[in-house]
Amino acid sequence: MIKLTRARAGWMWVCAALCMPALAHAEWLTRVEDGIMGTRIEVELWDDDAAHGNAAIDAVLDDMRRIDEAMSTYKETSEVSRVNREAFDHPVQITQELYDLLATALDFSRITEGAFDITYASVGYMYDFRAHQHPTEAQIEAALPAVNYRYVELDPKARTVHFGHTGVRIDLGGIGKGHAVDSGIAILQARGIAHAWVKAGGDSRIIGDRFGKPWIVGIRHPDRPDEVILRMPLVDIAMSTSGDYERYFDENGVRYHHIIDPKTGQSARKVRSATTLAATATRTDGLSKTAFVLGAEKAIEIYDALGDVDAVIVTPDGRVLYTKGLAPPAQ
Ligand code: ADP
Ligand code: MG
Repeated sequence: MIKLTRARAGWMWVCAALCMPALAHAEWLTRVEDGIMGTRIEVELWDDDAAHGNAAIDAVLDDMRRIDEAMSTYKETSEVSRVNREAFDHPVQITQELYDLLATALDFSRITEGAFDITYASVGYMYDFRAHQHPTEAQIEAALPAVNYRYVELDPKARTVHFGHTGVRIDLGGIGKGHAVDSGIAILQARGIAHAWVKAGGDSRIIGDRFGKPWIVGIRHPDRPDEVILRMPLVDIAMSTSGDYERYFDENGVRYHHIIDPKTGQSARKVRSATTLAATATRTDGLSKTAFVLGAEKAIEIYDALGDVDAVIVTPDGRVLYTKGLAPPAQ
């Protein structure tokens, strides 16, 4: 799985001889699981005890299933589906976890000048990328008045959500996987695991290093899946990539893809891909859509002003732009 340098291999050998009983079952464990939250989950970790490590991975996957059950709009029984059915008629009491995530989502809306907006779904539900379906201009026009994060009204005392406009729907597809990754990392940390990678689709988070070295993470080319445009050495960080090549179809030379501009109800086409880096995956997930809607320059201005977010953005004409934290040093 990893190539050991000779020096490191030598060190491992001495350690193996001295610490044999303690490290008898120590190993890197990896698990790949398809289908939770409609995506691929990958967990990789180091544990001195393989059984303990495998139980930790099981716990992370169970937690992701739990979050999927609560937050998927594809499941009628989910808490979010109930909110979508009832929250215009009356305030709906919700779990603290959902409440906190909605509050964070609204924060991201304010930070991104409305580019991130969970009410995109008031129009977004009419897209079906697998079935190559998109709403007509008339359907978009009729639904668009309901797209506005300000219609998601939270009451912290009663822990309720209420929709301030008819036709509002929310969808947490743009933040839920990041939240699930952070939740998974918290589970691993609570079990004493210090070196791990948890990934849900385009959202991942790393704790610790990998055999004393950074994890190497690549950003793919928007059109050529096997081509990596940039490799980054990373430790203790979260990262999300959004791309117009993830869920899409092309019709008459136009690409319809899953990131929607809340102002127009159309796919947001100002960039091809955006990768964000920050301390938590909830934050990188919520902020990775910004450049699609506002454009690369404006998104970079926002990230640079925040100070804790970095980004690598690929524009439609193939330029790669960086925040100041990642920009190559001046020659
Ligand atoms: P992934 O689903 O692989 O994590 P992204 O992080 O790029 O991909 O999120 C894309 C998802 O975000 C869409 O499938 C949709 O559920 C949601 N979304 C689309 N447009 C917006 C928007 N303007 N604001 C918030 N969420 C959005
Ligand atoms: Mg995501």
